[in-house]
Amino acid sequence: NEPIHIIGGGLAGSEAAWQAAEAGATVIVHEMRGVKATDAHSTTDFAELVCSNSFRSDDHEQNAVGLLHEEMRRCNSLIMRAADEHKLPAGGALAVDRHGFSAAVTQAVENHPRISIQREEIAGWPPEDWRHVIIASGPLTSPALADAILAKTGEDSLAFFDAIAPIVHYDSIDHDIAWKQSRYDKAGPGGTGADYLNLPMDRDQYYAFVEALKTAPLHEFKDWEKVPYFDGCLPIEVMAERGDETLRHGPMKPVGLTNPRNPTVKPYAIVQLRQDNALGTLWNMVGFQTKMRYGIQAEIFRMIPGLANAQFARLGGLHRNTFINSPKVLGSDMRLKADPRIRFAGQVTGVEGYVESAAVGLITGRLTAAEARGDSMPLPPPTTALGALIGHVTGGHIEAESYSGARSFQPMNVNFGLFPDVTIIKPEGVKRWRGAEKTIAKRKAITSRALEDLKVWQ
Ligand code: FAD
Repeated sequence: NEPIHIIGGGLAGSEAAWQAAEAGATVIVHEMRGVKATDAHSTTDFAELVCSNSFRSDDHEQNAVGLLHEEMRRCNSLIMRAADEHKLPAGGALAVDRHGFSAAVTQAVENHPRISIQREEIAGWPPEDWRHVIIASGPLTSPALADAILAKTGEDSLAFFDAIAPIVHYDSIDHDIAWKQSRYDKAGPGGTGADYLNLPMDRDQYYAFVEALKTAPLHEFKDWEKVPYFDGCLPIEVMAERGDETLRHGPMKPVGLTNPRNPTVKPYAIVQLRQDNALGTLWNMVGFQTKMRYGIQAEIFRMIPGLANAQFARLGGLHRNTFINSPKVLGSDMRLKADPRIRFAGQVTGVEGYVESAAVGLITGRLTAAEARGDSMPLPPPTTALGALIGHVTGGHIEAESYSGARSFQPMNVNFGLFPDVTIIKPEGVKRWRGAEKTIAKRKAITSRALEDLKVWQ
């Protein structure tokens, strides 16, 4: 029985170890805290929550992360069991007593008869005689291991920062204002010449927008979090600061595009959105990476014509975060193409958040345990939250095919935009949906389909 080596005892590594051991595998967890610290953790406990103590919404009917909680509970998740045991009052959210939570995870891992723990840094590529490996070293992977990953996967496959542009739900965009067109109607690889959504601005709208950017409060960074700017990837508010016209000559340039509703008037500036997932439900705002605080971002972006009612699947950000370009370097079974002994789990795969990281650990732990006993395991279907998340990591993200740069693949929380659509039928006697009724009905249809499909998969 060849052991499974797991590098990192965070949210993902702990869940992966638990799942693999429960499936009968022998597991060795290599965790460096205790001999080497990270810049964000302050204890040596497993699954330490480095910032907030919230696992976000626990509503499994109306919220994608709530659904993920429920699916994980049904899959014997250690992280969810410990969270439920150490839950604090927090309305509809699942908040936990962070010390009780981490202590419970640590105890469960330490006491499992098939798991052993080695407190050490893995400071290079995993040794050749390790047959089954999961790298779950997180957003703050130690530099020596990050260098080894870089050497194995190549320059454009490992990012140390995420420069995130906001992502908008397609059906919250005003399509009476937006039009589809690529600049100069150019059809890139696999494109049609109408691959972007364009939102036009007149002069007054543009200047009001630039002014708002210049005065917006910024996220405060701790010293070690300070992020260097990349050329060609500046936050929009920094571009606005450099001159009122800078954005018009950068990501908002109005050239090569004609508004079919008003072909004779040239817009003063244009915001472009690009499809962000294969389903076409999510669109990212091209070149709009930003360090503005979350609340103000939504307010300012809703000033853009066509985005007055925009719902954001993700807001923009710029963080220190080590993650691989998963859709490019991992196979569909989460194995590293360049060295199939290795799987990755957690935030380093390009998911975002405690729960999502643990969820990828859950699936990876099970996949690796199956492999170690000479078996195979089907992935959860894409209609489940677990499957939707794995789809994001392994290639549901459309840009992976046309872009090779790590920058085109960005970390993401689980959200309804990652699920295949459902058709809903109006209940008998209802002529017109009112208010949020349709959205609520759709979410219920997605979440009940997910739990049904999970049952079949299990
Ligand atoms: P981690 O939980 O970080 O676990 C990785 C483990 O690997 C660590 O224990 C580390 O010590 C170990 N390790 C690293 N390198 C090596 C090595 N070479 N050898 C051995 N061990 C190694 N998410 C949220 O949902 N809410 C938040 O509020 C939040 N705030 C955050 C704040 C900061 C500053 C950071 C950096 C991240 C934050 N996140 C937050 C994201 C959060 O880190 C992840 O969601 C989650 O912790 C990732 O789980 P993980 O298991 O992938 O990584």
